[in-house]
Amino acid sequence: MRVSSVTQQIKNFALTDARMAKVGIASIDRFNESPEGMHPTDFLPGCKSVIAFCVRLPDGAVNATYRTFEDRNYDIHGIYGAYGYVGAPNYNLLWANYKISRFVEKVTGCAAMPNTAGPTHGAKMLSMRHCAYAAGLGEFGWSSLMLTPEFGPRNRFGAVLTTAELTPDPMYSGPRLCEPEKCHICEKMCPTGAIPPYVEGEGRIVCAGGKEVDYSQINWAKCRLMCHGTHAEYNESGGDIIPIEMDDPLDEELGDINKYYAGHPRQNFHQHNPTWKCGNCLTYCPVGDWKERFRDTGLSAVDTDKYIDGDEK
Ligand code: SF4
Ligand code: SF4
Repeated sequence: MRVSSVTQQIKNFALTDARMAKVGIASIDRFNESPEGMHPTDFLPGCKSVIAFCVRLPDGAVNATYRTFEDRNYDIHGIYGAYGYVGAPNYNLLWANYKISRFVEKVTGCAAMPNTAGPTHGAKMLSMRHCAYAAGLGEFGWSSLMLTPEFGPRNRFGAVLTTAELTPDPMYSGPRLCEPEKCHICEKMCPTGAIPPYVEGEGRIVCAGGKEVDYSQINWAKCRLMCHGTHAEYNESGGDIIPIEMDDPLDEELGDINKYYAGHPRQNFHQHNPTWKCGNCLTYCPVGDWKERFRDTGLSAVDTDKYIDGDEK
């Protein structure tokens, strides 16, 4: 039997005590299409509900990426790393996971499993983006990032799994957030071409709660070139990052980037490899009042309108 008042208590706790920006609940049937080994019951046998939540990234942390890419003030980007990506948001989510899971166990008497957040503890992780989608927090964008109507892709997600049967939230049913047949901003703002142009039927389809959405098949090797500052491939057996020779045609397209990284030591240790040296797909997406927050305030000078409706200038 689902207990809605307990569900409401848990959601209130997530928003107030754990200070999350949004919270939603997915019933376990919404994960019927999960890949093998990545179903919530692979992590918590008997899991019946997934409580997904997010922190909003501070606009000032997002601003660090504009200063990096627009002013070429490269060293500021670490502020985005600390407060917009691997640092504060993940530790905030870790703490929220801990608090929410203990609260769920207290009020339901059922097991509640917290998840790690980001690459902080080396554990295998469920996809937090997919948990958030299944819990009705928003929709996927063509960039493969989860968009919320309030903050666009400028959120980080966490999720607690529980054997308690809570009342699920409806899937997101507001206006369509991403229209990749018209908007090409993430594709055009991606410095390595990792995000392909939208072609109907060529995206990856995600299905949950009777709702389907597609997103691009990102070229992760190209994305890592920017984010890790190296050509790198994951070693399938160990998961380590192995640098490969920089002799492919991308080098010509990426002249500036390669020059920048050439002067910086490449650290390829699994937990110490920077993964936050880009994020343009997140920082320039128009969803979540981008114009009002960043363009109209002068924080970004990029005219992203030229990448909408195929109306390139
Ligand atoms: S930048 Fe445009 S196409 Fe890309 S995810 Fe955002 S809305 Fe969708
Ligand atoms: S993080 Fe940067 S390189 Fe990677 S997909 Fe986004 S825009 Fe492209």
